[in-house]
Amino acid sequence: MTQLQHYQMFIGGQWLEAQGEERFDSFNPYTGEAWASIPRARQADADKAVAAAASAFHSPAWAGLSASARGRLLCRLGDLIGEHAEHLARIEVRDNGKLYSEMLGQLRNIPQYFYYFGGLADKIEGAVLPIEKPDTFTFTRHEPLGVCVAITAWNSPLLLAANKLAPGLAAGNTFVLKPSEYTSASSLEFARLVEQAGFPAGVVNVVTGFGNEVGEPLVSHRKVRKVAFTGSEAGGQRINEAAARDFKRVTLELGGKSPNIVFDDAHLDNAVKGVISGIYAATGQTCVAGSRLLVQRSIYAAFLERLVAFASRAKLGDPMLPGTQVGPVTTPAQYRKILDYIDIAKAEGARCILGGGPASGGDCGQGQFVQPTIFADVHNGMRIAQEEVFGPVLACIPFDDEEDALRIANDSLYGLAAGVWTQSMARSLKMAQRLEAGMVWVNTYRAVSYMAPFGGHKRSGMGHENGAEAIREYLQVKSVWISTGEEVPDPFVMR
Ligand code: NAD
Repeated sequence: MTQLQHYQMFIGGQWLEAQGEERFDSFNPYTGEAWASIPRARQADADKAVAAAASAFHSPAWAGLSASARGRLLCRLGDLIGEHAEHLARIEVRDNGKLYSEMLGQLRNIPQYFYYFGGLADKIEGAVLPIEKPDTFTFTRHEPLGVCVAITAWNSPLLLAANKLAPGLAAGNTFVLKPSEYTSASSLEFARLVEQAGFPAGVVNVVTGFGNEVGEPLVSHRKVRKVAFTGSEAGGQRINEAAARDFKRVTLELGGKSPNIVFDDAHLDNAVKGVISGIYAATGQTCVAGSRLLVQRSIYAAFLERLVAFASRAKLGDPMLPGTQVGPVTTPAQYRKILDYIDIAKAEGARCILGGGPASGGDCGQGQFVQPTIFADVHNGMRIAQEEVFGPVLACIPFDDEEDALRIANDSLYGLAAGVWTQSMARSLKMAQRLEAGMVWVNTYRAVSYMAPFGGHKRSGMGHENGAEAIREYLQVKSVWISTGEEVPDPFVMR
């Protein structure tokens, strides 16, 4: 039996056990073995972390730091993440079972988020207003909110944390980060780098544990001013309700059922690759998964044939090996959910043309694998077309023309992303304008950048991460009025 790696939480600059000294194990989805022991925090730990963040927010060490110095701290943290990218990526694979190549790509990119927002820290500017009252000098200030809570999902733990902490810290806030109970380790390793970068104690705190045990107390804490959440729609609903009680700000990055639309004028080889990357990369466990494939009727049968030929060659196996293309499903609950949806699709009458069940043997180790699965002849009203599966299951729907494609694509409660495959510029622009989604990709899929806003429309979320505007999600505006008049005029008349 392997020796469990023993982690502690990071609160107020100290490495601590949970107050109740409880722990839980973290499992490697490929080997099925427990590999790390994680503190199981509850209300008392949440209170302690929020108190540390609140005290750091007002401390001269943080509040007294110049904006440029704050930006330099973020850049130093970015450097350290870059230096430790391989180590952090290995830890993430051990917890979530996604491909090492994918996690390393993310980790090597994360420093850019800290550089970008670090660079913005000293460009947060107010304005002097040309107010219509002659004896008044009026200006605006953009100020940090206070203590922010960041709650992340298991699929990309540090990327999701960077999306929140980079703009939030640049704006001058302090944080309590709570990673998913399935993937706690990389956030605790990240805390070591925060410490090494020289952030004052309490500016970044990391607590670990379960949503209902420590997540809820954090979200409900009266001293918390903002909650930034990435996770399921159900989790987002609970968090939004709890945050609303104290009028806290929220950013919610939730799920999707994103359409990937292939027109008959598309470069078909590229479109096949784009559809594959949209649904089988990360074993379909991405919020932006292109899980509804809409194909123009004139090429429907031929395109599906090409797709099946390509997808059936996908190599399942050990996520650490360079040749592997599809890894295991991360959690047992997710595995059962995916298989349930496959059964639902079959019962709804969708035609299974690839996969359609669990995969085992070969290079699958002890992991819980699902075969890359394709359902043809899906109607958009079916559950398999309307509900997020979060796995390697593609639902294919034929369409007639642009209007038909738009009608089907937008007939969804979600609006996270959409893909369009066409060689027509006019069609690209028309579709991009009319698709109800936060991100539209034309002749590419799953492209993200620290520079481009990322967020959902409709039930896929509220607010945006990334892009210069994301820093506004962590600032509040104040107007300051200074009278330059000699005398206070009539006190009974509003000025
Ligand atoms: P989840 O909602 O189960 O958990 C996410 C996080 O929230 C975890 O840290 C969990 O402990 C915590 N949590 C759960 N209930 C809570 C509560 N009541 N109060 C406070 N915290 C609570 O989601 P998951 O299964 O970890 O992640 C998968 C989901 O995340 C999918 O729906 C996926 O689409 C979504 N996701 C969205 C994005 C995006 O940017 N839009 C990115 C990745 C994943």
